[in-house]
Amino acid sequence: MSTILVTGGAGFIGSHVCDFLLNNGNEIINIDNFNDFYDPKIKEKNVSHNLRNPNYKLIRGDIRDLDLLDNVFKNNEINVVVHLAAMAGVRPSINDPLLYEEVNVKGTINLMEMCKKYGVNKFVCASSSSVYGNNKKVPFCETDVVDYSISPYAATKKSCEVFGHTYHHLYNIDMIMLRFFTVYGPRQRPDLAIHKFTNLISENSEIPFYGDGSSERDYTYIDDIVDGVFQSIRYLTDNDKVYEIVNLGESETISLSSMVETLENELNLDAKLKLLPMQPGDVIRTFADISKAKNLLGYNPKTSFNKGIKEFVKWYKKEQGKSNKYLPL
Ligand code: NAD
Repeated sequence: MSTILVTGGAGFIGSHVCDFLLNNGNEIINIDNFNDFYDPKIKEKNVSHNLRNPNYKLIRGDIRDLDLLDNVFKNNEINVVVHLAAMAGVRPSINDPLLYEEVNVKGTINLMEMCKKYGVNKFVCASSSSVYGNNKKVPFCETDVVDYSISPYAATKKSCEVFGHTYHHLYNIDMIMLRFFTVYGPRQRPDLAIHKFTNLISENSEIPFYGDGSSERDYTYIDDIVDGVFQSIRYLTDNDKVYEIVNLGESETISLSSMVETLENELNLDAKLKLLPMQPGDVIRTFADISKAKNLLGYNPKTSFNKGIKEFVKWYKKEQGKSNKYLPL
């Protein structure tokens, strides 16, 4: 059994990661500040089923708070850090770059400092496909140059990768930086397109449709991402002297138009489109080369977009049927 510190474990990806790791017999310490980037009640619900598990410790705290982190590291024998806490979202980062820098960069350095101080040398960190910016070459490969960020959010994620290498080099902390490609599935953040559009289509409201519908995303189902995180922990546990950046995508691109069509089919409803220009900071396309993830980690995404959307809509309808609804923001 390992003790794994998960940051952001009340969020969309983090709560699934915690569930999986608990089911695999690990002890989890989850640090999350339950911020109001989206309704914190959703986060409460994401953690509620684990609160009575003796192997689960929830710490309501902020990764910017070095004293708090120091106490957590001092009082627990942590084997691995899975760092997922962040201010996510490209568009909001344009309005508040300083907050994004403070949480995503300073918060990450705080955790690395604690790893250095307390000798924790296995670190998995959430990066993002957004670091590729408007990379012309597809599919996006980890060796591509990512110096041309087009949003503050992407710039903070690139900084985390660079600081990760620095701490690996100076203090032998083994690191895997995972570039997640648009993640979806049950508990998806309500600000992300699939969830937001599902809310709007269900209530017969217009959906904001940016550009001509040809922009493409490599949508990755949550179970595949969780598997990639798990395989990364395993790889770090079995190997030393590791610093790797790894794409976790599905390696299949879906256009905005076909994403909306798939949702319409699954919901059995028509979408009303509000046509809008492309947004600054949004990339035209994401498309992951996942050969490194396959070779290094044995990553093998299994969920097609159609199947994943079926699962998402099934979950969504179940949530709508309950009194405590997931309401649109
Ligand atoms: P999320 O917002 O649902 O989860 C992030 C969690 O971090 C939240 O529960 C939030 O309360 C917590 N948090 C934020 N600031 C904090 C702070 N200062 N201290 C402690 N906790 C804090 O987002 P998500 O979609 O689950 O994303 C998880 C990670 O994956 C993030 O690092 C994000 O940047 C990255 N990522 C996500 C996607 C995606 O498609 N969802 C894509 C690429 C990268």
